[in-house]
Amino acid sequence: MDNCLFCKIAAGEIPSKQVFEDNDVFAFLDINPQAPHHILIVPKCHIDRIENLNSDKADLMGKLVFTAKKIADELGLKTGYRLVFNNGPDSGQEVEHIHLHLLAGRKFTWPPG
Ligand code: 5GP
Ligand code: ZN
Repeated sequence: MDNCLFCKIAAGEIPSKQVFEDNDVFAFLDINPQAPHHILIVPKCHIDRIENLNSDKADLMGKLVFTAKKIADELGLKTGYRLVFNNGPDSGQEVEHIHLHLLAGRKFTWPPG
């Protein structure tokens, strides 16, 4: 989609520190990390929010989580990590292209802020 930051990053039009790529998924380092490891995992197709997912995207969403698992395995994250989808204004979602945050390398609190 034109004018979408994460579409442009996934297409390589805006530089990023790439962590993983396949036909469907792109993963890169967050520019403003909130933990020692902070990776964003995005679908290459533009979907703004979870409520706008169609059922044909269910496998793709599972693939985002499985990509997080593969990255966590490669990084050797044996003591845990947090996976977050911010979705909609109350959540603090800033970029309207679905993305999964993979955060690790420190202890996280619950409930989240
Ligand atoms: P959200 O708040 O929408 O869940 O998360 C958006 C994330 O994208 C934030 O953690 C923010 O730091 C990250 N971000 C925003 N702009 C850029 C950018 O240009 N490059 C990268 N690598 N990350 C970005
Ligand atoms: Zn997009």
